[in-house]
Amino acid sequence: MKVSLCKHRFPIQPPRGSFGAPGPCTDCGITWDQRQAELRKQDEALIVGSSRDGKCPDCNHTRRLFRFQPPAQAWDEPDYEPPVTFLCMGCWDKAAEAHDEKVKALYAELAA
Ligand SMILES: [Zn+2]
Ligand SMILES: [Zn+2]
Repeated sequence: MKVSLCKHRFPIQPPRGSFGAPGPCTDCGITWDQRQAELRKQDEALIVGSSRDGKCPDCNHTRRLFRFQPPAQAWDEPDYEPPVTFLCMGCWDKAAEAHDEKVKALYAELAA
């Protein structure tokens, strides 16, 4: 895997891209989809590698906890780090779903 030191800037303004489909990085040319796939792979390794037992802050059960960090969006600043929490598998799924809903709602709002 190629390690890129590029901070990546994905244009979300026409004609080069849009909120729904950001254009390729203006610096290195990596596409938004490639970047998302790369991030997901890194995320999975990080989530599995950092899992630990503890008390889930959402449901208060002592379980195996997994790192949850909402994926950065095209409109986030390149240096923005979404907050990290450790959640049990059930709460992790719920948090991921809630995040998806939020992003979908944002897109709908922008498209309106
Ligand atoms: Zn780049
Ligand atoms: Zn939980």
